[in-house]
Amino acid sequence: IRMVLIGPPGAGKGTQAPNLVNKFGACHLATGDMLRSQIAKGTDLGKEAKKIMDQGGLVSDEIMVNMIKDELLNNPACKKGFILDGFPRTIPQAEKLNAMLIEQNTPLQNAVELKVDDDLLVARITGRLIHQASGRSYHKLFNPPKEDMKDDVTGEPLIQRSDDNAEALKKRLGAYHQQTEPIVEYYKKSDIWSGIDASKKPTEVWEDILIALN
Ligand code: ADP
Ligand code: ADP
Ligand code: ADP
Repeated sequence: IRMVLIGPPGAGKGTQAPNLVNKFGACHLATGDMLRSQIAKGTDLGKEAKKIMDQGGLVSDEIMVNMIKDELLNNPACKKGFILDGFPRTIPQAEKLNAMLIEQNTPLQNAVELKVDDDLLVARITGRLIHQASGRSYHKLFNPPKEDMKDDVTGEPLIQRSDDNAEALKKRLGAYHQQTEPIVEYYKKSDIWSGIDASKKPTEVWEDILIALN
């Protein structure tokens, strides 16, 4: 499968992506996870990106497009297909992705939008816990780990993202509505868009994604 997952922060992209990977055997490219790994490694790119991310802004299109291109062309796990999570986030990113995929004769097949009203996202984001190395996410109330603050799979500590606070979320939602939502119209035009009510329970959202992909 070759698809993009679109949705505001907290919509459930990272929660649903592993289901897609299990079902279709594609690679999962989450640009936020990729940036956080640059931050953890202390690279120059990571240092630059952290300032922007903590303020709820967007990292430059050029950096993000190069990051995704590099993975899609060189990561063998992506040869079977890919699930993009958090990319594209702007019209220029969507256009550059399209041009590259058409050049490779592997056009995008699906753009799935996870729709959740802003007022539900505050609780999701402020309660989110993540396992840094894998990107696995939990929720303090909605999906607690089996052992307090520990990843179910590795037992390693869970952390709260530094941008998962109410103030940064407000800016991220602003960026989403202004810069990312226009790509929904872009994908509707090429007839590969499906919209899902992602305010439901995770299992119900997953069922609806499968129906939409059929
Ligand atoms: P995204 O990757 O779109 O930012 P996540 O998948 O990380 O979103 O989900 C954000 C938070 O909300 C996480 O803590 C996650 O456990 C929780 N969550 C995900 N899907 C749902 C859902 N359908 N209902 C309630 N909480 C959810
Ligand atoms: P969320 O799970 O809340 O949707 P992500 O983990 O996808 O957030 O992204 C975290 C931050 O990383 C974003 O707020 C933004 O600063 C940066 N980022 C991630 N992907 C992109 C992208 N495609 N373009 C620009 N900035 C990005
Ligand atoms: P109900 O009591 O209606 O059967 P649940 O107990 O399954 O619902 O879930 C309660 C809340 O937790 C709901 O908002 C649901 O979306 C959320 N939730 C359940 N499982 C998960 C999960 N794996 N990840 C994130 N949120 C979840």
